[in-house]
Order: sequence, then C-alpha cells, then structure tokens
Amino acid sequence: MKADYLIVGQGIAGSVLAWTLEQKGYRVVIVSSPDLPTASKVSGGIFNPITGKKLTRTWKADDLFPFARKFYQEMQEKLDVQLLHFCDIYRPFRSIEEQNTYLAQTADPNIAKYVVEDIDNEHFMPFVKNPYGGLQITHAGWVDCTEMLEKIKLYFVEKSQLVVENFDHYKLIFQENSVLYKEWEVKKILFCEGYEALQNPFFNWLSFNPVKGQTLITQVEDYSLEEIINQGTFILPMDKKGKCRMGATYTWHDLNWETTEDARDYLQEKIKVYLKKPYTILEQQVGIRPSTKDRRPFVGLHPEFKQLGIFNGLGTKGVTLAPYFAHQFVNFLELGEELDSEVNIARVFSLYFRSKSSQ
Ligand SMILES: Cc1cc2nc3c(=O)[nH]c(=O)nc-3n(C[C@H](O)[C@H](O)[C@H](O)COP(=O)(O)OP(=O)(O)OC[C@H]3O[C@@H](n4cnc5c(N)ncnc54)[C@H](O)[C@@H]3O)c2cc1C
Repeated sequence: MKADYLIVGQGIAGSVLAWTLEQKGYRVVIVSSPDLPTASKVSGGIFNPITGKKLTRTWKADDLFPFARKFYQEMQEKLDVQLLHFCDIYRPFRSIEEQNTYLAQTADPNIAKYVVEDIDNEHFMPFVKNPYGGLQITHAGWVDCTEMLEKIKLYFVEKSQLVVENFDHYKLIFQENSVLYKEWEVKKILFCEGYEALQNPFFNWLSFNPVKGQTLITQVEDYSLEEIINQGTFILPMDKKGKCRMGATYTWHDLNWETTEDARDYLQEKIKVYLKKPYTILEQQVGIRPSTKDRRPFVGLHPEFKQLGIFNGLGTKGVTLAPYFAHQFVNFLELGEELDSEVNIARVFSLYFRSKSSQ
C-alpha cells in the first residue's frame, strides 16, 4: 500500500501534523501504539500569551496565537465538535509587593494588549482568596486535547489510515526516494513519539530534557467560575458543573508514568492557599513533556536518512506550537521552504556526528 507520509504517534504532534497534511491533500497513514502512554491525554491544553513571574510574552506569540486559533476553529468545524474554549486567566496577587511588580510590568504596551484593564475582582471573591486583587490575561483559553485525539483517531480509522501497533524501527527498508515499513511504501516517515523518541534508534541523539507532570481531576463544590485561575498552580474548569483540572507539577527526575502521593500533596497544598471551596479528587494523571534543552521544538529531517523526519520537542506548549510548526514543516517538505532555524534539528546535528564517531 502506498501513502505520502507515515506518522508514528498520535499525541498532539502526530494529530496536528497528520491533519495538516491531510487538509493539504496528502495521503497519510498513522501508526499509533496500543499501550505506550501519551502526554497529550493529560495535557491541560492551556494557551496563554503571558507566562511566568516576569510576565514574559510567549515566544513568537504574535505568530503562534492567531495561527493556532484559526487552526483549531477550522478543525472543530470540520469534525463537528467543540475543541476550543476561550477564557481569561485570572492570577490573584500573593502580596502588595507582587501587585506593584505586576502592575508596573503591564505598563509595557507589549504586555498591556494581553491584560484586562478594569478587572472585576469581586467576581472571583466567592471562589478564591484575592485580598490584593489580581491580573486578568486575555487571548487565552484551552483546547480539549482528549476530545481532539479521540476525534482525529476516529477520522483516520474511518478512512482505514490508522494502524494500532507499536512501530518497529528495525523493520525499515530504505529505497532511493521512499521507505518501506511492512506493507506500506511512503515518501517519508515522520516521528511524533513524544518522550518515547529517546527509544528511537534514529533520533535518540537529540538533546531532550523531559519533564514529568501530574494533575488532579477534581469535583469542586458550588463552583461556577469559567476563567482559569493561576497562582503557580492552575484550576481549569472543564465543565459548568465544577469539574476542574488542577495542576501541574514539574519534575526532572523519576521519569516514569507513575502517579505519586508527593505530587498529590504538593498540588493540594498549593491550591489550598487560594481556593475557598471544598473539592474531591476524582483522578490523578501523569505525563512526560517532551521538552528540549534549548526549549525549542525539534523539527526536520534526519542528517543521513532523508526519508525520516521528526516533529517533537513541544515541551510545555504543545497546543500553541503544533499548528504553526506543522504548517511550516509541511511547506518545508513539499515546497522546499525554509524551516525556522530555532526549531530546525540542523541546529544540533553536531550531536549526531559526535555520537556516531564515538560508536
Ligand atoms: C501534566 C501536563 C500538563 C500539560 N499542560 C499543558 C497545557 O496546559 N498546554 C499545553 O500546550 N501543553 C501542556 N502540556 C504539554 C503537552 O502535553 C505536550 O507538549 C504534548 O502532549 C506533546 O505531544 P506529543 O504528541 O509530542 O507527545 P505525546 O502526547 O506523548 O504523544 C506521543 C505518542 O506517540 C506514541 N508512540 C511513541 N512511540 C511509539 C511507537 N514506537 N509506536 C507507536 N506509537 C508510539 C505514544 O503512544 C503517544 O501516543 C502538558 C503536559 C503535561 C504532562
């Protein structure tokens, strides 16, 4: 059987890339594991133009945000499902000092355009402790990643273009302008394996810096806020009946897919500081973010095997980064357009040649 591209992995990266290729008229087949875990299934899906203590504008926010918005809007219309939820992010100040620091920073016009001017702090008072008021960020929201993954899976299953199995990297046969994998002959194989890329013999030399993350799915009593609350940890309303995702933790050790009591205690301690309502925990979830050492995605073709490509390294911002760079990757593959040098894996090719020479 022939296709243009075979995509390995169906998290945010694989789903967005497969959809982008398909919408541009290329034939795609996805190989998706039946048992390997998927970070995207536990992702909050939050997109936020202003992050961190220093109110830093997300890298390339002015390009990424409008692109992602249009992408998910079109996808949800075509798949007839709601994926995109626009809502502001409210950040209650912890102290007068914090209030002063943040308000001074919002004088910067680059930040000001993402911040609500007249905040109705009273609106939040029944739910969160905010004696010093808070900062409200606009142009934010979340994508329902679980729903997106499910719908994309069904879409490709119905077209018989999704194979459920663990991809076997040792079953490849390279030809001059194509590659064979079992019964498939494709122009290129594009790996979107998230953290599992470290097990990929063709790409395990890339400088990943994976980050384990855990969240709690909770039922909060008498809770009707639609905004995301964030004070280091976030509370994301998943429906209008008080079901919320609370998270997340960030750890660089014990990189396994096990939930821990420590993480649950940590999140509960953080949430207790500002949430006024009682809640029960319905579920605890875990994922490993495929972050990179220089905090930029990994996109491009293998230095030696031009039939192999990678779309990975989306780190903590999969939802925002994937649409823009999937589009750029497809134009690179099909039209020969340039990849952004900050995401192109060519920036770390020296690691590949060094790893080869030491073998
Ligand atoms: C707790 C947590 C909260 C997060 N919150 C947010 C957020 O609010 N906003 C945001 O933008 N991002 C968030 N992220 C980050 C986001 O989840 C990641 O950027 C994103 O999931 C990465 O997607 P991916 O497709 O690269 O990897 P994954 O989602 O891990 O998908 C990789 C897929 O490849 C499959 N696979 C791997 N190897 C093979 C193989 N050999 N054969 C077949 N299939 C294979 C795996 O089974 C998996 O399905 C969060 C992450 C975590 C852990």
